[in-house]
Amino acid sequence: MPDLRGLGVSPGRTAGPVLLMAAAPALPPPGPPLSRRAGTAAVAAALSAVAAELDRRAGRAGGEARDILEAQAMMAADPTLLQAAEEHVVAGMDAAHALDTAFAEHRAALVAAGGYFAERAADLDDLRNRAVAAALGMPMPGVPDPGHPFVLVAEDLSPADTAGLSADVLALVTEKGGPTSHTAILAKSRGLPAVVACAGALALEEGTLVSVDGSTGEVRAGLDGPAAEEVRRLAEAERAELAHSSGPGRTADGHPVKLLLNIGSAADLAARAEGVGLFRTELLFLDRRSAPAFDEQVAAYAEVFAAVPGAIVRTLDAGTDKPLPFLDLPAEQNPALGIRGLRVDRLRQEVLDTQLAAVVEAARATGAEPSVMAPMVSTPREAADFAGRARAAGIRRVGVMIEVPAAALLAEAILAEVDFLSIGTNDLGQYTFAADRQHPALADLLDPWQPALLRLVEMCAAAGLAAGKTVGVCGEAAGDPRLAPVLVGLGVTSLSMSAVCVPAVRTALAGHTLEECRTLAKAALRPDNPGPR
Ligand code: PEP
Ligand code: MG
Repeated sequence: MPDLRGLGVSPGRTAGPVLLMAAAPALPPPGPPLSRRAGTAAVAAALSAVAAELDRRAGRAGGEARDILEAQAMMAADPTLLQAAEEHVVAGMDAAHALDTAFAEHRAALVAAGGYFAERAADLDDLRNRAVAAALGMPMPGVPDPGHPFVLVAEDLSPADTAGLSADVLALVTEKGGPTSHTAILAKSRGLPAVVACAGALALEEGTLVSVDGSTGEVRAGLDGPAAEEVRRLAEAERAELAHSSGPGRTADGHPVKLLLNIGSAADLAARAEGVGLFRTELLFLDRRSAPAFDEQVAAYAEVFAAVPGAIVRTLDAGTDKPLPFLDLPAEQNPALGIRGLRVDRLRQEVLDTQLAAVVEAARATGAEPSVMAPMVSTPREAADFAGRARAAGIRRVGVMIEVPAAALLAEAILAEVDFLSIGTNDLGQYTFAADRQHPALADLLDPWQPALLRLVEMCAAAGLAAGKTVGVCGEAAGDPRLAPVLVGLGVTSLSMSAVCVPAVRTALAGHTLEECRTLAKAALRPDNPGPR
């Protein structure tokens, strides 16, 4: 098998055996009717295989994951489901179609019952896929859990899949996905090397040894055991060397640039940095079916504040590829352009109020003084409303993210309402270029070296300088060691990134004076700048 190349989106190298994440099975055309005995035995075997697999996984999981898996195993063992599938077999269907129909009926009944039952309907889709795969003799869909380290290869992964990965996953390789997709971001936050948009990855054979380079995007296949061992040894040595890097962010001539961390929970606080610039609170609750209680939120935030008292908390950024099922938001034609981020407040005001109160309580309990900022702010009016709510709740330092071009264009007016700006270049790139950040074929438009994006960054930084307020970057661009000096040259005052990116960015800044950064920025702003792609 030839070597493959995709987009390296989370740095680091490793090697290990490939395991494929099977896709949901498509139903083949109906097969011939089965005898009553063979048919009922086939549907019963499929359902009990699903229940047994989920029970096995529950036994290996902990906490809430175990409860969810156990509940799903019980649903698979529900006798009414088995009975319905048996009836369809008796009426002439093959096992896969009988199961598919039984699940569809069960799902419709739950939706019709409403409330708590309707919330459970989505759980049935995963069970349906597993049961149909078992009936067709195909591998079970979902993330494999073999009990040994492996490289996970999939067509695509959702943020919820990625957040729930076991420690056995060495690296991720996907055929789909963009450079700033949330899956890539989660991989980075977990220090997992990841390559996305890797054509041909699904043709890799299960068990074959591959090496993965999450910086260059290279996936080499067909390694033998000693070669894989050597890749892991070298990668470990590199990691140890980088871990020695420490100290504040400074250009060669001493201009300070705060190096901050992007985190999804206290577990991501691994690197030496100068604070937390983006606490993506929604990542705490991705798999939740009921709203996180006030006390639970207080505990999660307090864990971060106890370690980093000045952390910047981003209020929930739900929507598009990070749906929070408990919000029960209506389905939309264009979710990325719809109710997401701060816009959820238009429908569900209590969500933001509860979160702000929980932040204040966690701060009180830990003696911390965190800041808060809102995602997806589009107008000065929205910024003013958010700042008013946050200050009324008792938070002193309030900012907003600049992720929508409209907000960048009015950065000065927005800064009149808040204390700081944090530029989310991932979404700012997506919305400036009308290019889905998860689209593997649009990586060139999503490249943060695009001069149009850099011009918006410059406008925000200039507004910050004029107002004497800080303007940081917290999108993936901040963690790119080649781009970091350019961003500093444009005038940003802090860079916030995943822990794995901090040492290389620190070294890159130390290699340039502020004047050199400005020269680089000037060149990067030229409309014909192709960037070092
Ligand atoms: C961004 O959009 O750049 C950002 C930091 O927010 P997220 O990636 O979580 O959407
Ligand atoms: Mg964003």
